[in-house]
Amino acid sequence: MFDLIKKIWKTKTVTKTDLFTDAPERFRGKPILVSNECTGCQACSTACPAKAITLEQNGDAITVSLSYTTCIFCGICAEVCDTDAIHITNEYRLATKNKDELTVKKQTTVAKLLPVGKEV
Ligand code: SF4
Ligand code: SF4
Repeated sequence: MFDLIKKIWKTKTVTKTDLFTDAPERFRGKPILVSNECTGCQACSTACPAKAITLEQNGDAITVSLSYTTCIFCGICAEVCDTDAIHITNEYRLATKNKDELTVKKQTTVAKLLPVGKEV
C-alpha cells in the first residue's frame, strides 16, 4: 500500500499498470475468444447470465461478440462451449480510454447459426 501511494505521489497518476501484480494463474478473470472453430450452437450466448455474448450471421460466417462492459467473469461460456472456442484467463484489468476496446469479436468459419439448443 505504501509503495502504491509513493508511486502515485511521484507520477501524479494511478493509471500505471505495473502498480498491480498479476492475479494467480487459477484466478477466474476475463474470457477470451480463442479459435474460429465455433459451430454456431449458441450455447454460450444462451447460458451467459449477463447477455454479454452475441452471435451474428455475417455472410458465410458468424461473428461472435463478447462485451466486457457487462461480462461478470462467471466462466459459464467456456464451460458450455464444446469446441473450446472460449478460454477463461486470469486477466482482470479492463481499464481503457476507448469504450470500443471493451468489445471483442471473432469471425468463425461456420456458415449458419444453429437453432438454440440444437446438438452439433
Ligand atoms: S464469463 Fe459469464 S458473463 Fe462473461 S461472457 Fe462468459 S458467461 Fe457471460
Ligand atoms: S461453439 Fe462455443 S463459442 Fe461457438 S456458439 Fe457454441 S458455445 Fe459459443
